[in-house]
Amino acid sequence: MTDSPKIAAFSLKPRKAVAELTPYTPGEQPKRRMIKLNTNENPYPPSPRVTEALAKLSPESIRKYPDPVGEALLQALSVDHRVPPRQTILTNGSDEILRLAAEAYVEPGEKVGYLWPTYSLYPLFVEKAGGVEVRIPWMDRTPEEALLDAPKDLKVLYIANPNPPIGKVVGLDTLRQVAQARPETLVVVDEAYIFFGGDTAMEIVAEGTTPNLMVTRTYSKSHSLAGLRVGFGSCSPEVADVLYRIKDSYNVSAAGQAAALAVREDQAYTRNTVHCIRATRKRLTHDLRVMGFEVEDSQGNFVFAKCRDAKGLFQYLREKDILVRYFETPELHDGLRITIGTDKEIDALIEALRDRLRP
Ligand code: PMP
Repeated sequence: MTDSPKIAAFSLKPRKAVAELTPYTPGEQPKRRMIKLNTNENPYPPSPRVTEALAKLSPESIRKYPDPVGEALLQALSVDHRVPPRQTILTNGSDEILRLAAEAYVEPGEKVGYLWPTYSLYPLFVEKAGGVEVRIPWMDRTPEEALLDAPKDLKVLYIANPNPPIGKVVGLDTLRQVAQARPETLVVVDEAYIFFGGDTAMEIVAEGTTPNLMVTRTYSKSHSLAGLRVGFGSCSPEVADVLYRIKDSYNVSAAGQAAALAVREDQAYTRNTVHCIRATRKRLTHDLRVMGFEVEDSQGNFVFAKCRDAKGLFQYLREKDILVRYFETPELHDGLRITIGTDKEIDALIEALRDRLRP
């Protein structure tokens, strides 16, 4: 009999910033079939053009690495946004471009700001880069007032527009003013939800007058491609050069590039699903208010509904196979973030809530 192998002592340490960071908790992706209103996915399937384009992917295009920059998609986006192709960087979801911004610009100890509460992944980018976060509270004023009042010594300022989980928007004049008053700050306008409400800041990038402002977008929400992971950022040539230096070479798959191009050929489809989601959002907001929830008008594909015992309600809905998002944080523990689903899904949610709240 041979001795069992000895387990070597393991003392390899990660970087301090990594050891100390608080990992992100993604929304649950349940194994069983549930009504899933917890991660702001689009409830409708992607355009049939997408499935056709994916079916047509040749074995050759799967065997080889994809186009490293996604030239065809860059050309198309450049026509749509009037921004030269090399000022746009395609990424593996918009999470990647948002992370690259911090990775490229933030030295350990430098400050990164965002309105708070907001997308809860931003703090992780800051921690990874060894930066110092500056949370800009805004719940007792408008997000515009909060931004105009933000510190001047930020290296990066993330502005989700519309801003989850409430869904407020900031106007273009404010964005211009905020960026122009901070030439030493990279202002990242995260337009993940822009098709559902608000004005795009892409025209500020196209104007070329504000080189420290970048706009990021995703195909995950309004275009139903969350599973394929495609996003991008558009910015000045100077910022683009920096980000191209550090992006992974083949960061967007051939499938992702083909699907994003196919989406563009079917803009009527996107317009239609976005229209349905906005109509359902209006109805849900109204019905929640009638039931006694406190709900602000949202410009995203989600609403934040304040109520008593939000945690209990979250658990009750989960038992009914309806998943919404509950954040156990001081700012958000008194509400539920509900992604706008199909009408049928929202009917089921409202019925379950009525059952529970019936006196
Ligand atoms: N920005 C915001 C504000 C988001 O809520 C999300 C998705 N949860 C993203 C960016 C990232 O989207 P993706 O990586 O799928 O493009």
